[in-house]
Amino acid sequence: MRQGEVCELDAILRPAQGPSRSGRWLLSPLRGGADGQRRFAMIQQSALRAETAFAPDVLASAVDSSGDAIMVTDTEGRIRYVNLAFERITGYRAAEVVGENPRLLQSGEHPPGFYEALWRAVGAGESFREVFLDRAKDGRRFYIEQTISPIRDAHGDVSHYVAVGGDMTDRVEAERDLYRHATTDRLTGLANRFQLETTLERELARTERYGSSVGLAIIDLDHFKQVNDTHGHLVGDQVLAEVAERVARAVRRSDIVARWGGEEFVVLAPESDPRAAREMAEKLRRRIAGQPFAGVGRVTASVGVTASLAGEGVDALLGRADQALYRAKAEGRDRVRCARPGLAPCRPTPPTQPATSRRSSSRV
Ligand code: GH3
Ligand code: MG
Ligand code: MG
Repeated sequence: MRQGEVCELDAILRPAQGPSRSGRWLLSPLRGGADGQRRFAMIQQSALRAETAFAPDVLASAVDSSGDAIMVTDTEGRIRYVNLAFERITGYRAAEVVGENPRLLQSGEHPPGFYEALWRAVGAGESFREVFLDRAKDGRRFYIEQTISPIRDAHGDVSHYVAVGGDMTDRVEAERDLYRHATTDRLTGLANRFQLETTLERELARTERYGSSVGLAIIDLDHFKQVNDTHGHLVGDQVLAEVAERVARAVRRSDIVARWGGEEFVVLAPESDPRAAREMAEKLRRRIAGQPFAGVGRVTASVGVTASLAGEGVDALLGRADQALYRAKAEGRDRVRCARPGLAPCRPTPPTQPATSRRSSSRV
């Protein structure tokens, strides 16, 4: 410029008042004025980035005032910066985690594919947004909805990643409670009717795809009104809870046991043919009738059981199991009846003798 040449430079102009301006500037010397001072014209050629009125310290405290956890990592996977909200949510002080790998927050609850999807996205220069289940310093699990984005340097290369996330634990837990209330029977802890119907629809769709069938049993306790009338409703409730436990313990892990109504239960057994469904129903009947209930004695149940036919809907399947139950009641209770069109009627099962009388009769 001393030699009168025009020069070009990238610079941030920070005037005493008003916003800073950064960009590429052209500086052109002007002929000296009367006071002998050097003068030049400065022309902004292009803005390099958005103008900001904030000084870096204001930005830094803005980041710390955020309720969201902010974490910056480098491309080697080391944490370089965390804000105050990060410290509050995770329980780690910044000094404990800077230099560490963010893996230290992993709860181990996500399948490996979860993190692979994360790396695929950010590796391709995209943002990744997901609810993470992480582990705080004290071992507590927390949910955090995070967006992880690449940060690029002046050459456009990824230099860091920034993760911004809000604590979702209260919301996720509230949603889970709501779901539990909506799908679970309070007295027995079993699935409720709504849940069973939803699962049944899904399982029937699966049988369509795989050409399999599901077994379905409806259990109705016999003369249960008498139990209430004799021992009171509360004792009746205890019997219902005990029946639920016996049935739940007797079935396979993949089976679903639901409280269908007052003293009626439904068991859905995926991947079951009619024979397997019938065997399951007979086992359930024996588990209920085989042992007396505390303070009440023997309670029996009638069971209607069936297996699904190809292309059958929920109502048709339930209707058939219900007809079989009706027959079990009509033919004397404490027995299993099966229904499947085209299938030989199942062997009548003799009613179970009370545990005590069975023992005494064997002595005779
Ligand atoms: P059966 O089925 O053998 O024909 O006779 P039942 O006496 O069991 O008759 P039904 O199935 O029609 O009546 C069900 C009775 O179950 C009516 C009611 O006293 C009782 N019950 C229904 N829901 C509950 C409940 O939540 N708690 C209790 N303690 N009893 C219930
Ligand atoms: Mg009933
Ligand atoms: Mg009944």
